[in-house]
Amino acid sequence: MDFSLTDEQELIVESYRDLMESENWETYFHECDENHTYPLRWTKALCDLGFDRILLPEEHGGLGLEDPNVTLMAIYEELGRYGAPTYVLYELTGFTTILREGTPEQIDAILSSLGSGEQIFNSACTEPGAGSDVGGLTTTYTRRNGKIYLNGTKTFITSSKGVKYLIIMCRDADNPDVISEFFVDMSKPGIELSPLPKLGLRMDSCCEVYLNDVEMEEKDFFGTEGNGFNRGIADFNFERWLVGACDYGTAICAFEDAAKHAWQRIAFGKPIARFQLNTLKFCTMKIKLDAMKHMLYEAAWNADRNAGNYDAGAAAACKYYCANASFEVVDDAMQIMGGIAVASEHRVNRIWRDLRVDRVSGGTDEMMILTAGKAAIKPFRP
Ligand SMILES: Cc1cc2nc3c(=O)[nH]c(=O)nc-3n(C[C@H](O)[C@H](O)[C@H](O)COP(=O)(O)OP(=O)(O)OC[C@H]3O[C@@H](n4cnc5c(N)ncnc54)[C@H](O)[C@@H]3O)c2cc1C
Repeated sequence: MDFSLTDEQELIVESYRDLMESENWETYFHECDENHTYPLRWTKALCDLGFDRILLPEEHGGLGLEDPNVTLMAIYEELGRYGAPTYVLYELTGFTTILREGTPEQIDAILSSLGSGEQIFNSACTEPGAGSDVGGLTTTYTRRNGKIYLNGTKTFITSSKGVKYLIIMCRDADNPDVISEFFVDMSKPGIELSPLPKLGLRMDSCCEVYLNDVEMEEKDFFGTEGNGFNRGIADFNFERWLVGACDYGTAICAFEDAAKHAWQRIAFGKPIARFQLNTLKFCTMKIKLDAMKHMLYEAAWNADRNAGNYDAGAAAACKYYCANASFEVVDDAMQIMGGIAVASEHRVNRIWRDLRVDRVSGGTDEMMILTAGKAAIKPFRP
């Protein structure tokens, strides 16, 4: 399998490298992280380079790339190397679901924000009583007097403070076996948000979302009524791969920071890079980086040959392995950097906090193991 980039892909990656070299973005990221604000100036600059059009079909203004998923992977790798908070970019790449399921009005509403760098939409499945077990949700929709009303509570909803629209999963109050989704304008009356404190990923919001008789209409269904659960599941695979891509990228940053530090820091009369206990760390860090790289590029390469669809087992394996391996790489980097990594504003400190969240959000390690493990043994079932 040949993952080498084409001349066009090299040029694209170079444009993102130039952007990251154009100023000391770390100062800006640090401010945004400290103030819990979305890094709009940076996301806008990415969109000026066409970031939010990479996976879009040409008829919707996409770039018409031959291997868009591999290209996206290479961009995530480059941005991650600079310590960029790529986790805020999920919503700027995943328009496939809107184009597949949305009504023309819903598609227009989403695509009208292209290029702005703003947060546009996200999905809300999780509830206080339904996390890994999404199907246990209790938020309902009820038809009354020609309208539809949503009631319930969603929790841990990423970007809910910033997005214009949320796709909310709920069940029919009169027929509880039916799970559907609604395309909800967040400015509607009856929606209240309560921000949740987070260990990491602080440049993005995460809130509890209360729905009190939020009035909807028949046209506000997202996709077919009754297909909400399947729709949500269908898009998990891309999201899981994307989490892996983010995690791998930022682990490169921590590795390189630690390697530079190890050659500069003198202890017992020599650079700490010369101590064999640190050599062991660099060895295992590099092996994990290489393993992440290969599995992520392979999954992207296969998706490009399968109409953009990610294999469920491969996507779950990418998320599980990369969330853990990248966390271990960053943790080793912190150990090598000693006090300045844990008692300063060094970016490795921020990256460590961010990565820990990914072993839970977007599906826990344990749920990834179940999916990836089942896929691994399926071909051998008698
Ligand atoms: C920062 C953040 C952002 C998030 N963003 C969103 C979002 O935008 N939209 C959204 O809908 N959700 C979002 N989530 C929710 C996330 O998907 C859930 O937190 C996750 O699925 C786990 O659910 P839970 O927290 O309720 O844990 P639980 O489901 O209660 O799990 C607790 C523990 O039990 C384990 N467990 C559960 N079932 C099994 C099983 N069958 N076998 C083995 N172990 C099991 C889990 O792996 C975990 O270790 C976010 C979460 C976080 C933390």
